[in-house]
Amino acid sequence: MTISIAIVGSGPAAFYTADALIKADCQCEVDIVERLPTPYGLIRYGVAPDHEKTKNVWRAFAKTAQNEHVRFYGNVEIGRDILLDELRNMYDAVVLAVGAGSDRSTGISGEEKKGVFGSATFVNWYNGHPDFRNLNPDLNVESAVVLGNGNVAIDVARVLVKTPNEMAMTDLPEYASKSIHNSTLRDVFMVGRRGPNEAKYTNVELREMGQLENCVPQIEALQIPNAVEGDMSDRDRRLREKNLATIKEFVDRKPNEKDKRVHFLYYSQPIEIFGEKRVEGVRFEKTRVQNGRAEGIGEYFDIKCGIVIAATGYTSKPVKDAPFDHKAGIVTNVDGLVDDGLYAVGWIKRGPTGVIGSNKPDGKLAAEQILARHAINNESGIKKGGREALNALLVQREIRSISFKEWQLIEAVEITNANEGAPRKKFVTISDMLGILK
Ligand code: NAP
Repeated sequence: MTISIAIVGSGPAAFYTADALIKADCQCEVDIVERLPTPYGLIRYGVAPDHEKTKNVWRAFAKTAQNEHVRFYGNVEIGRDILLDELRNMYDAVVLAVGAGSDRSTGISGEEKKGVFGSATFVNWYNGHPDFRNLNPDLNVESAVVLGNGNVAIDVARVLVKTPNEMAMTDLPEYASKSIHNSTLRDVFMVGRRGPNEAKYTNVELREMGQLENCVPQIEALQIPNAVEGDMSDRDRRLREKNLATIKEFVDRKPNEKDKRVHFLYYSQPIEIFGEKRVEGVRFEKTRVQNGRAEGIGEYFDIKCGIVIAATGYTSKPVKDAPFDHKAGIVTNVDGLVDDGLYAVGWIKRGPTGVIGSNKPDGKLAAEQILARHAINNESGIKKGGREALNALLVQREIRSISFKEWQLIEAVEITNANEGAPRKKFVTISDMLGILK
């Protein structure tokens, strides 16, 4: 008997799950249901526009989407167009792969001020996400503070200071390019609450900061530890040693070498974002690292700035009709199992950590769990409506879903419209995307 599986979301975790299912020795029907007309989730809207190579994995995902057992249903939102419980009644298994697309609150006073953005919001804006294209961040400022020392913080800092020439062959949308490249921004302060050895960004990203066309990295020698110390895996030690070596190379860079500067500041935790009508600066408390944690030492200083981007982590929104662990910001699950026939993969399962490939084992595990459960339930012989039932419901509710072929038509126009050397010119509104199909 064919197993019907619906996957909600179409980012890496969704595609790795679909791939694991079609490669398994079973008869299955896999439907990927995505609220936007566009597939690929964070590949399209999370990876930085100047890191096109990282996005290349979409090619493998496109192959999966075109497999005979797989269908893509774009522009269909679970919780709005169709309830999760309705989907569960139609399919043998439902896999939640909706990611962690929201900003986690920093808990700092003043974070609601004008000019303060979470990185999920800001990254979606410069990546042309239809929900964020009207954000209009005011970049007519001299200084920016980026909070956090992860890869997202470094992505944001880099995109803010790269030149038009450096971004020419990217899919940075025109509105973001205008705003960033006409900006008066000169100094970006990237502030970590712990030290260089505890920073979470990877070395390729860090090294890139030393090779920018019109921006120079700045760091005070006093902030640099002599060596990497403490217990850790060999892999972590190698990464930290590489980062430490790179940071040390930044010490001799002159502030006036180039027009812009990214200042790497460590051992400083944000206490308050201040300003009258809008953000005017951030107050920090100096820290020391004790047992791996940042501890305030009662000394304070301010950085004046006109914009703050808090790259301090993402979180997931609760999924209607699924149990949610508010503290952890994930769907309540045990090894991906949420409820009978309901599974979770990727960031909604385990929180916003890891790289794209980290989602692969989640997909494999979910596929194994689904098949194991089916092997037991198969004896009962209950047949659910699956794809046929979904198609009927979409017609009944007059929901305009987008097939993968239709997405490819949209994509083809994006490629045709691209500036020379750029991979695509993204449509940034859903109506423009749907307009192509009329
Ligand atoms: P992340 O790696 O967890 O970094 C979050 C940063 O925010 C950390 O430096 C953390 O400091 C800091 N932070 C958290 N709460 C804070 C607070 N209240 N005050 C000050 N600082 C605070 O998360 P991310 O950068 O959002 O990245 C998410 C995942 O995507 C990561 O796994 C990342 O590697 C991945 N990613 C990868 C790439 C790439 O491969 N190029 C690009 C983008 C994202 P502590 O360490 O002290 O907690």
